[in-house]
Amino acid sequence: MSSSSSSSSNSTWSLGDASSSYSATSIPRYCSPQILWNSPYALPCEFGFIGCQVFFRPSDVEAWISHSISHFTAFDIRPPSKAICTFCDEAVFENKRDLESGWRERMNHIAGHFARLQSEEELRPDFGVIEHVRKFISVEDYKRTQRYSERPRGCPGLVFPQPSALFLCLYFAYFDFLLLTGH
Ligand SMILES: [Zn+2]
Ligand SMILES: [Zn+2]
Repeated sequence: MSSSSSSSSNSTWSLGDASSSYSATSIPRYCSPQILWNSPYALPCEFGFIGCQVFFRPSDVEAWISHSISHFTAFDIRPPSKAICTFCDEAVFENKRDLESGWRERMNHIAGHFARLQSEEELRPDFGVIEHVRKFISVEDYKRTQRYSERPRGCPGLVFPQPSALFLCLYFAYFDFLLLTGH
């Protein structure tokens, strides 16, 4: 089943600690964590382009940021010294002396966009970040990131066309919950 394969592929860097203290969840992209949590928005992992489907509650910004940094750690690298906001054109974050602080500043800024209820569909890739990790990701994932420049990134499945979709969403979320908690 697709949900089991996606969870296992992410487990090396994402959810070993998250399941205990963070309110992260890993769900198929066609599900809506907002609906699951009855939350106005959810914070998606920046590394959705390599298949990470982890979302965090709005109150868990720090865990969301730490999780994003864990992706760089998994590649045995540090965050890039320069990155941009994935929502707006203006914001550029550069900190050559303290890479993690620069990255945290950027992520807090992006969290502000989500808090203003800007849609995930408004997100654009930070191609600098993608280049930063390029040699660690698959050719297929890299090619997919390049397609994002031609159309908005987003998940059309976030809109439920029929009630059965909500049922499926809950079903797979429960299935992932069991996997993550080791049941
Ligand atoms: Zn992730
Ligand atoms: Zn911005």
